[in-house]
Amino acid sequence: MLTGMQIAVIGGDARQLEIIRKLTELDAKISLIGFEQLDHAFTGAVKEKLEEVDFTNIDSIILPVTGANLEGQVETIFSNEKVILSEDILFKTPEHCIIYSGISNPYLNHIVKQSKRTLVQLFSRDDVAIYNSIPTVEGTIMMAIQHTDFTIHGSNITVLGLGRCGMSTARAFHALGAKVKVGARKSEHLARITEMGVTPFHLDDIEKAVAGTDILINTIPHLIVSAAVIAKLPSHTLIIDIASKPGGTDFRYAEKRGIKALLAPSLPGIVAPKTAGQILANVLSQLLQESYKNRKETEK
Ligand code: NAP
Repeated sequence: MLTGMQIAVIGGDARQLEIIRKLTELDAKISLIGFEQLDHAFTGAVKEKLEEVDFTNIDSIILPVTGANLEGQVETIFSNEKVILSEDILFKTPEHCIIYSGISNPYLNHIVKQSKRTLVQLFSRDDVAIYNSIPTVEGTIMMAIQHTDFTIHGSNITVLGLGRCGMSTARAFHALGAKVKVGARKSEHLARITEMGVTPFHLDDIEKAVAGTDILINTIPHLIVSAAVIAKLPSHTLIIDIASKPGGTDFRYAEKRGIKALLAPSLPGIVAPKTAGQILANVLSQLLQESYKNRKETEK
């Protein structure tokens, strides 16, 4: 339980609603900042403006998946107000205050370092990334269906990368009856791709390997689908790039060649915000309960 814990949830999209629901069930006291247009009310959660919150009592701050932008602005889907997370705010919090976010950036890293607080990036955890790959793959399948006039079954799919998303993507398209090839650079990844029953290729051979691809799915956050690679693709190929912005595709060259290339960020939040929120809520509630228990023990 989180009885007595004070948490500030700042901004975010529908995924945060699952987090708020779970934390109020665990009896935490919650300040909701950037939610004034939200119709729903949660027992134990109070909508407040940033300047109304007494941060000296806040044990944890929960930011959206995106954290904050490079100017400190936090994304607020349920508010028109500009919410800026500043270094001054973090300085006001107790020393034990932990900040949770999906990902980070130089701004967030800087203010956390200056204020000597702790930042937990949920998406750098393997468990979160693996669970999150499930709605990500469903979103990728949705895009493949929406943007082609042929079935996934029987088509040639090339997946780049065998990380958390690459593996789930390759498995799902294989299960749908596609002819799947996966490109990786580590020998253990090539071995795993073979074990999965799909066709491996080394990324050094990418230009040769992509010939005949109907749908190319990139999960590598590095410019890998270069002009030289795009030049080898059939003109009907659909590129779906799910890697974090700016993706790993030369979009300018794809457009020049007339190849449809889509950057597809935040798929879990689009296709399954409830599940994506529950994934975060489950991990967050565990982490918050552990940190609360540890703090109480050290205070004894
Ligand atoms: P991951 O587990 O770290 O996998 C990344 C893959 O990229 C690994 O196979 C890695 O291979 C490869 N890679 C990285 N840098 C490379 C380079 N310079 N050259 C060749 N290969 C390289 O990450 P993930 O969890 O699968 O996520 C993949 C990407 O998708 C990330 O950018 C993530 O932010 C994004 N993502 C997007 C969505 C969405 O909705 N669009 C959802 C979830 C994740 P090595 O092991 O050899 O380095």
